[in-house]
Amino acid sequence: MQRIDGHVHLEHGPLSAAYVEQFVSAAQKAGLDCLQILDHTHRFREFRPAYQSVIEADPLQAQWLSGKGKFKDSLTDYLELVRQLKQRVWPLEVRFGLEVCYTPESELFLREICRELPLDFLVGSVHSIDGLLYDMPFSQPLLWQKYEHQTVVDRYLDCVLQSVQSGLFDQIGHPDTVKMASAKAVMDPGRIREIAEEAKLRGIALECNTGCHWRYAHPDFGLSDLWLTLLAEVGNRVVTASDAHDPADVNRDLEQARARLIQFGVRCA
Ligand SMILES: [Zn+2]
Ligand SMILES: [Zn+2]
Repeated sequence: MQRIDGHVHLEHGPLSAAYVEQFVSAAQKAGLDCLQILDHTHRFREFRPAYQSVIEADPLQAQWLSGKGKFKDSLTDYLELVRQLKQRVWPLEVRFGLEVCYTPESELFLREICRELPLDFLVGSVHSIDGLLYDMPFSQPLLWQKYEHQTVVDRYLDCVLQSVQSGLFDQIGHPDTVKMASAKAVMDPGRIREIAEEAKLRGIALECNTGCHWRYAHPDFGLSDLWLTLLAEVGNRVVTASDAHDPADVNRDLEQARARLIQFGVRCA
């Protein structure tokens, strides 16, 4: 099995070669074959229009998006850093991309701005449902206390399916992570299978992301048993991903995630 950490963020540090080197060095120490470095699109001011529905949905969300670290850099600067770093010879495969916050309402905008970006990969992740973020402290009053949990989870899976069908992405970020906020809602196996089949058809990888476990204390090391069972049946390619936001967290809990992929017979990237 290839040892990959397919999702680590630069967002707590500068866009600099020295900071990237810290991640690569951590990956080398962990014995990885491949490291995928990315950042959220909300770091880059060019992507601000993609967040219109989130900004308009509630002032608390608008305030969060006007806070520290949001839209602070230019995509041009990131692309220039990537251009320089791709000329380096690294001790392992190092790939550069973006974690794009996908919403169906911003798809046309994303289609334009993501066209022919000189990056190795794009991850599409659903972080909001009909404009409402689901993993913030303020998500409780704005989303979870207001709507039926089952309705929210069903809508989340709709959005994940649309992110796959958009054809914009090489990889789908943490496709079951809405579970962190709702223990009582059930994920429809039929809908998961639909997501899996569409992803397989289009050659899109799905993440087994442990961020939900170590950042949000969810018991699963990445994808749930149900997801892994269905992905093994459909034959999806799955990428292990730590969601590290600091070099010290590269490869975090991925040994357990890899063991689960083997246990369920899932094909790894
Ligand atoms: Zn994410
Ligand atoms: Zn992430």
